[in-house]
Amino acid sequence: MSDEVEVNATRKHSLNSVISDGEQPPVEIHGDVFDRQRVMKNFDQTLIEQQHAFVLGVGGIGSSIAMSLVRLGVDTIYLLDRDIIDASNLNRQILFSRLDVGQSKVEVAAKHLKEMHNLRTNIYYYHLDAVLNWSSVVDIAKKCTVIFNNIDYGAVFDHAVNSLCKSLSISYVAGSTYANNIEINLFSGLSNDSCWACHNSTNDSFKFSVKDLENTNDIQLFLRDMCFISGEQSQLFINEVLNELNLNQPSPSQLSTLFMPLYQKKVLRFLLPESIQKHQSIGFIPKDRTFPTRTVGSWIGVCVSGACLIVNTWVQYLMKKMNLNESTFHNWSQFNLSMFDGGYYTVGFPNEQNLRDCSICSNAKQIAEKTIK
Ligand SMILES: [Zn+2]
Repeated sequence: MSDEVEVNATRKHSLNSVISDGEQPPVEIHGDVFDRQRVMKNFDQTLIEQQHAFVLGVGGIGSSIAMSLVRLGVDTIYLLDRDIIDASNLNRQILFSRLDVGQSKVEVAAKHLKEMHNLRTNIYYYHLDAVLNWSSVVDIAKKCTVIFNNIDYGAVFDHAVNSLCKSLSISYVAGSTYANNIEINLFSGLSNDSCWACHNSTNDSFKFSVKDLENTNDIQLFLRDMCFISGEQSQLFINEVLNELNLNQPSPSQLSTLFMPLYQKKVLRFLLPESIQKHQSIGFIPKDRTFPTRTVGSWIGVCVSGACLIVNTWVQYLMKKMNLNESTFHNWSQFNLSMFDGGYYTVGFPNEQNLRDCSICSNAKQIAEKTIK
């Protein structure tokens, strides 16, 4: 009996916290697909309908993010991916079926979004490599209020997208999943707020062991094979770095200890907010060599719930922007979905700008100050 009283009391309390005292919901307009969102407390459907979202990559997380965004009713989404659908994608990439194997991911994603999920959103898609067609990424980003970065190219690519967001003052949202783990990042893109680079370093992407370099005499070939660096700019960079170091035929240890650190410095300078919009291609950035999806696996639970948590983080940020103090917002959360690892848990890290070490934030601040003058 006492249990029953407690259950009722809890229920009453939770209802009171979502419905304002004595307030009736607005009259329902027949056929309004967003009616149940409009009546939610602290939820502004009009704000959602003003959003233009760029979804970079429509794989495991990206396809569920795209679906959530059109169901939410954002104004426009732009989908970009260079991949074709593989059988191994189908266990978790919900916009594709067996019949779609071998076809363009973005094309099929747009088709199925329109057929099944779309309520009012304009949908555009681009079958492109984001690294080699960077100028297209920049052009699309200029029309957007937020970028969802779901491309697994590596830390330097994330660094570049973060810098682009900072240069345009638009939000950077990213998430990654592996096995049962979900990690979510959201950075506002505003010059006084922290960014991805305040908390992350690209150092590991530029490090190679001397053993990796032992059989390589041609640096161009080494960079193409080991770092996946390509494009015209790479040769230019290479010569410049070698000249500066006074090296003709660098040894493997010179490549690792002298060449790569200077190469990194130059690459990061090209990726500052003041330069990030100018590149046709960013083929000079290294791709991280080991990606763990095949090693640790992935499944529908982590991809769909991860995508929903990522979109939720962005929605909460949008709503909070109007209602609450921004400094209380957490930029970083981690979840583990395994109940056997001690239950679900979340970790949030607060918004702290690292101006001393973050080249992106200090450069964005300089640009903002120049603009004000
Ligand atoms: Zn920063």
